[in-house]
Amino acid sequence: MPELPDVTIYCEALERETVGRRLSAVLVLSPFVLRSVDPPVNELEGKRATGVRRIGKRIVLVFEGGMFLVVHLMIAGRLLWNEGEPKSMRPGGRNTLAVLQFENGHLILTEAGSKKRASLFVVSGEEALAEHDPGGLQPLECSLEEFKEALTRENRTLKRALTNPKTLSGIGSAYSDEILHAARLSPLKLSQSLDDAEVKRLYMAMQQTLHEWTDRLREQFHGKFPGRGKITAFRPEFAVHGKYGEPCPVCANPIQRIRYAENETDYCAKCQNEGRILADRSLSRLLKNDWPKTIEEMVGN
Ligand SMILES: [Zn+2]
Repeated sequence: MPELPDVTIYCEALERETVGRRLSAVLVLSPFVLRSVDPPVNELEGKRATGVRRIGKRIVLVFEGGMFLVVHLMIAGRLLWNEGEPKSMRPGGRNTLAVLQFENGHLILTEAGSKKRASLFVVSGEEALAEHDPGGLQPLECSLEEFKEALTRENRTLKRALTNPKTLSGIGSAYSDEILHAARLSPLKLSQSLDDAEVKRLYMAMQQTLHEWTDRLREQFHGKFPGRGKITAFRPEFAVHGKYGEPCPVCANPIQRIRYAENETDYCAKCQNEGRILADRSLSRLLKNDWPKTIEEMVGN
């Protein structure tokens, strides 16, 4: 699932390619992808893009006349950019959901797999756009005090608190694992049980991890639009996410995994839980009420 660093890269690339350019046509190829009815999507045609914003894990293309196109990539949605006009009806292949033709190139929305979760919404006016914001704090802009207040408002597992879009904006399964490893905290520790030093450690780890990865991706793409397969939740340089069974980069012990409902979390027992592996039986009791049960719940749909 594209999270804050990935979505930021997409936004910056879209800003370079589309801002100031006129949208000439919108081609919707999947009946499921467009979730809004009014205003109709062709009202965007002929309008110039004036900006790009991020709302949580969503990308918002801003058009003149106070119109917005909200793109929610969910798990497997991806964007591609090609110069000029599309050479076929489905320029991104059979997984193409929609094509936005600008005067200088075309943006392709694709989604791999059979679960069609990615979505587009056409929105008119800031007020209607605000309804798409789950309201979480901006992790790179909030103060330590604001973070503490949001984190401890409810007594949640840290995995849930970090990935809850109403608490923090733009963090999902991958970066929450990386943040918790950097903070040396268990994903199942309850947020209200943290002392001040731990809250500060988590706050610092969150900002450092997200900054570091955004910079790293910027360097990797170097001003180019990310190509096919380049935005992924599994990166070789991750410390724990997607690394089940591999050695922890800090202590060399094997990375552990918890699977629950549609989600999983990867962690190092030595670095994050005083060497104790989180056992399955106690887990299911603890997780029952406090785990993002569905992908939709985690991304804020
Ligand atoms: Zn470790």
